[in-house]
Amino acid sequence: MVMTGSLLMEKIVSLAKRRGFIFPGSEIYGGLAGIYDYGPLGVELRHNIKQHFWNRFIAERDDVYGMSAAILMPARVWEASGHTESFADPLVECRVCHGRFRADQPTDISAHEEWHKHKKEKAEWTQPTIFNLLVQTQLGAKEKLENIQQSTVYLRGEITQGVQVNFKNILDSMHPKLPFGIGQIGKAFRNEIAPRDFLFRQREFEQMELQYYIRPDEAEGKKQFEYWKQFAFDWYQSLGIQKDHLRLRQHAEDERAHYAKDAWDIEYNSPMGWKEAWGIHHRGDWDLRRHQEYSGVSMEYTDSDTGGKMLPWDIECSGGVDRAVLFTLLDAYREDELNKEVRSYLALAPKIASVKAMVSPLLKNKPKLVEKAHEVHAALKKVHSAIAWDDNGNIGKRYRRQDEIGTPFCITIDFDTLGETSELKDTVTLRHRDTGEQERLTIPEAAERIRLAIQ
Ligand code: ATP
Repeated sequence: MVMTGSLLMEKIVSLAKRRGFIFPGSEIYGGLAGIYDYGPLGVELRHNIKQHFWNRFIAERDDVYGMSAAILMPARVWEASGHTESFADPLVECRVCHGRFRADQPTDISAHEEWHKHKKEKAEWTQPTIFNLLVQTQLGAKEKLENIQQSTVYLRGEITQGVQVNFKNILDSMHPKLPFGIGQIGKAFRNEIAPRDFLFRQREFEQMELQYYIRPDEAEGKKQFEYWKQFAFDWYQSLGIQKDHLRLRQHAEDERAHYAKDAWDIEYNSPMGWKEAWGIHHRGDWDLRRHQEYSGVSMEYTDSDTGGKMLPWDIECSGGVDRAVLFTLLDAYREDELNKEVRSYLALAPKIASVKAMVSPLLKNKPKLVEKAHEVHAALKKVHSAIAWDDNGNIGKRYRRQDEIGTPFCITIDFDTLGETSELKDTVTLRHRDTGEQERLTIPEAAERIRLAIQ
C-alpha cells in the first residue's frame, strides 16, 4: 500500500529518528528550528544521492569540471550577486498569536487562518516586512587591540556564487572551450522565516548544482535550457521516484528570481502538495557581469579561434540534497502484508539504499554456520562496503528490520550452504525486499546480483 498525506510525513519523521537516519539538530539541548543532524543510515543515503549526482552531472561528462568553494564569503560577493538587496521574503506576523509566516505562501496563511477559526478566533495580519535571508557571522580580529573589530562575512545563501567567483580561475587553469560546466555540492544557509516540513525547509541545507556556460546566443540558450531541463528531470526520476509524482512547472514572470531570464521547477507531489525539488534557471550573464563590475576583474571568455571576447550565459541546474533525501524516503514508504504479518518497508532503489545487503547465519549458536556466514559477508564486502551483518533474534525479525530501512537483499547461510546435501553446497538464500521472494544462488551469483542491482 502506498500511503499519502500528513500521516505519511509523521511516519517518515518517526522512522528516520528511530532507525538512525535523521535526528533533530542538537536535540538534547532542545534543538534549533530548521536544523537537522544525519545519523549512520541517513548519511549513507545522502552520500549515495550526492554520488549519483556527481557521477551523472560531473564525473561522467567530458565538458564539466567539479569544484568545492568555501562556505564563508565576503559581503561584497553578495552585494554583487544582488542577494543583499533582493534575497528576501515578505514576512507577516499574526497579531493574535505572534506566529510568523511568509506572506507569499497562501497555503500556509490559509491553514493558519483555519486554525484560528477552529478556536473561534480571527487571525489578523501585520503589513508584510521584507526580511533578508542571508546569515551573517563575524570573522577575525583585524584591528589593533584597543580598537578591536571583526569583519562581517556571510555564510553562503546559495552555492552558485562560489562557482561564479572562480569562473576566471577555471578559465586560466583548465582552458575549457564553450560550452562547458562547473558543478559542486555543498552547504547553504538561509534565515528562513518559517522553517517547516522536516527536511523540506531548513535553515542549513545542502545543494547540488551545475552551472553550464554557453555562448551568449538566444537559439543556443533555448536549446541548452531544454536539454538541461530534461536531463535534470530524468536524473530525479532515476532516484527511483515514481514518474507521476514528478512534474515540470514554469515560473510565472513575477515569481522568477532577480537574475532569471527563464525558470522551471521540478516539483514533487508531497504530503504538502506539489513542492519544488529542483530549479533550472537561465541566469544569462547576470552573475559574471556583476562580479566583473564589482571586483574589477575581467570575466570575459576569449574564443581561441577568432580571438573574440564575450561574457558567457549560464544555464543553472540547482537541486536540494536534503529535499531529495526527504522525497526519496516519502516516495519509497510502503505498508503491506507478508506471510500474514503487517510490515512496512522502504522500496528504495538499490543504488540509493543505505545498506545494500544483510548477511546472516540461520542460527547464531552453530559455530560452523556463523563461520561460513562471516566468510560470505567478507566476500560480499568486496562488492560494496555497505553490507550489514545481523544475527540477532529470529530470521523473520531480521528481515523485517532490513525491510524497514530499505535494504534490497538479505542473504542467509543455512545447513545446505555447509554441504550437508551435496548439490546445494556453497549456495545461499537471497531474499528480495519488495516481494519477500527467495532464490537459491551460488555465492558468486549472489555477489553478481548485488553488483548489477546497485549500479
Ligand atoms: P523555495 O521557493 O522553496 O524557497 P527557492 O526557489 O528559493 O526554494 P533555490 O534558491 O532555487 O530555491 O534553491 C535551489 C534548491 O535548493 C531548491 O530547489 C531546493 O531543493 C533547495 N532549497 C532551497 N531552500 C531550501 C531550504 N530552506 N531547505 C532545504 N532545501 C532548500
